Amino acid sequence: MAGRILIVDAVATNRIILRVKLAAACYHVMQAETTKDALRLAASEAPDLVLLDQSGDTGFGLEVCRALRADPRCSGIPIVMTTPARDGACRRAAFLAGADVVLARPLDEAMLLARVRGLLRAAARRTELCPAGSEAAFGLAEHAAGAFEGPGRIAVIAPTLTEAVSWRQRIEASPGHGVQALAAVGALDALSQAAPELVLIVPGQGSSGGAAALRLLSDLQSRAETRTCGVLMIEPPQDGIVGVTALDLGLGDLIEPDVSDAELALRVGRQLRAKRETDRMRDALGNGVRAALRDPLTGLYNRRYALQRLERIARAALANGRPFAVMVLDIDRFKRVNDSYGHAAGDEVLKIVAERLRASLRQSDMVARIGGEEFLVVLPDTNPQRARRRAERLRRAVGRTPVVLPGDRGSITVTLSIGVALGGQPDAATTPFLTVEHADRALYTAKSDGRNQVIVSAAAT
Ligand code: GH3
Ligand code: MG
Ligand code: MG
Repeated sequence: MAGRILIVDAVATNRIILRVKLAAACYHVMQAETTKDALRLAASEAPDLVLLDQSGDTGFGLEVCRALRADPRCSGIPIVMTTPARDGACRRAAFLAGADVVLARPLDEAMLLARVRGLLRAAARRTELCPAGSEAAFGLAEHAAGAFEGPGRIAVIAPTLTEAVSWRQRIEASPGHGVQALAAVGALDALSQAAPELVLIVPGQGSSGGAAALRLLSDLQSRAETRTCGVLMIEPPQDGIVGVTALDLGLGDLIEPDVSDAELALRVGRQLRAKRETDRMRDALGNGVRAALRDPLTGLYNRRYALQRLERIARAALANGRPFAVMVLDIDRFKRVNDSYGHAAGDEVLKIVAERLRASLRQSDMVARIGGEEFLVVLPDTNPQRARRRAERLRRAVGRTPVVLPGDRGSITVTLSIGVALGGQPDAATTPFLTVEHADRALYTAKSDGRNQVIVSAAAT
């Protein structure tokens, strides 16, 4: 099933016509005739979208719309509102009541379905980026109200600079957005320098104007710099198919050419909010993924990630016939640091040791904190001699300079014992985990032989 839609209309024939259209497009349709029924069904059935008629002077639709937006159980459901005629005042009232999309009767079926698809797609993307219940974990909840307001960076692209400038003036009339006016020729290159948050496309006349607008939209969405920009388009006159296609390509909003400055400000503001919210979710998701791989104290990879990465390095080593080295590194007498200076000083030492290790390694090497004061380093494509030299270098990088303790507590010398083992050698029937075990045993020897030294496992050579 493509989605569940609640139709709210006081007129039975309107509901029937809509139901037939939507059912033909494979949507599951529910119907309500009164405000009470509409609210009850929206809350109990949680439809994916509400299609609501403004219903003339009675204001019935506006009332339902406001009530849906005010109810936390249904405030997030996308709403398409239909108005009795193509009229700016009706449209603005519908947007102010909380509608996401406003369509004039008689309804253009292709446009209605494109709008429904657009809203459902946006909702699905939202859920993908931020599954229900994860808002708090991602720190999104505190950004719910007001955090996405404020002036935006907007570019207007029109066939001529004069047209672009006139739309810029209209957008600038409201809340102080920074608006760049661009003629279509060369606009993409200009945007690649500094991408705006929103782009407003003003199509040129005729079918070639419409085709150029669609191409521009696709270009914006395929370039790395502008891929995440919100895009709006002024509806090309008498060319419904361009609007429908643009919506299916992912256009954020299609704006009627007769839009007033006030309505334009409202719709630009909404797209700006939506874009910022999506950015925030994408960032949060990225941060969440990064956090799942990292040790929070030192920022190094954690054990779980390290072992997965080790397996990949080992597979590559077997495939290309070049061995890899595993080092297990352990801070010497670390307990004494905690005992003498406190746990916070111990943490500081761990951070500094981690920094020194990271600074002494190459991009292709992997370093992780795999235990309290224990680290794992994996060097791809390394022979035993080089592995020993690199381990010595790490040992010196940590031990050479004393660590300054926080709070005027002087400085201490911190040393490492390091066990090294080689893996991925063609004739050795070992697993990467066995290699870690060999490195661990070498570390044990390094400790029992006096610490602050490197031991290369005999099993490796
Ligand atoms: P050795 O030379 O034999 O390795 O001696 P050691 O004292 O380093 O080893 P031991 O295993 O006896 O002690 C490790 C200490 O590391 C004990 C624990 O309190 C401390 N430790 C583990 N994780 C952390 C941490 O996250 N922060 C701090 N401050 N200390 C930690
Ligand atoms: Mg130790
Ligand atoms: Mg230890």
